[in-house]
Amino acid sequence: MSMIYRPRRLRATGGIRSMVRETVLMPANLVYPLFIVPGTNVKREISSMVGNYHLSADNAVELAREAYALGIPAVLVFGLPEYKDERGSSAWDMSSPVQQAITAIKQAIPELVVISDVCLCEYTSHGHCGLIHGQQVDNDATVPLLAQVALSHAEAGADMVAPSDMMDGRVAAIRASLDNSGYSNVSIMSYAAKYASAYYGPFREAADSAPQFGDRRAYQMDPANSREALREVALDIEEGADIVMVKPALAYLDIVRQVKDEFLLPVAAYNVSGEYAMIKAAAAQGLIDEPRMVIESLTNMKRAGADIIITYHALDAVKWL
Ligand SMILES: [Zn+2]
Repeated sequence: MSMIYRPRRLRATGGIRSMVRETVLMPANLVYPLFIVPGTNVKREISSMVGNYHLSADNAVELAREAYALGIPAVLVFGLPEYKDERGSSAWDMSSPVQQAITAIKQAIPELVVISDVCLCEYTSHGHCGLIHGQQVDNDATVPLLAQVALSHAEAGADMVAPSDMMDGRVAAIRASLDNSGYSNVSIMSYAAKYASAYYGPFREAADSAPQFGDRRAYQMDPANSREALREVALDIEEGADIVMVKPALAYLDIVRQVKDEFLLPVAAYNVSGEYAMIKAAAAQGLIDEPRMVIESLTNMKRAGADIIITYHALDAVKWL
């Protein structure tokens, strides 16, 4: 049988395959999330996300050091505060665990990029991402508080702030607040297209942020929509976002690709807790090859257009590359 083009020729050996590989996942593509709790010498495994921990600031520094030594350039910090109230005021309290951890990590590892999650849901008694009026989250009353949270993270030393709340207009307010206080070099990675997703389930335990009533569908996006994602991204870019994020990742790779094609900013994808937990659960039952599935999933996020991948697999993935 004579054929002019045989695609299998270029798959014949590992050497040839490596020459024609289009997407290569690198440690520099990854961001490792850390969950900061009060106290010292705390390292408690999060049962819904095995292999991830609630960490006091001192232990967060140690894990951040490990990530940096493996070539991972950035961590994304989430805070679990000492106290919660209706307004989420521990979110901008400079003595709260996450502000303390940001400062400690930057002092210990100045070259490591510290990104901070900016939201109120870990800090409010009701677990919503903003102020509550009646049964609604009040967008415009929430935005100045988010700007205050972002400013407190910048003051603590964060290189980048990442608003995850999905309030309208918050990127512009955060940019103005940072600029007015001398933090024009602090960048904004906006959760631009964040969907109201069942894939966030295990995170609620990690961040102790489950809403006490209702759900987040009045501010996070409908999973059925893609054109709306592009409008959300366009708005955040107009308001001053430096990096735009799509969350979750695996079930939303079409959105990642559309955002990448449509806009010129770097694109981040958040490989969320449910995606992580599915792989972990299947691996624990011996149903899948965990290292292969992790590397395949993360590589395909990059192939879809993600420049930056936030993932709980980061430390393992680097070892498996
Ligand atoms: Zn939130």
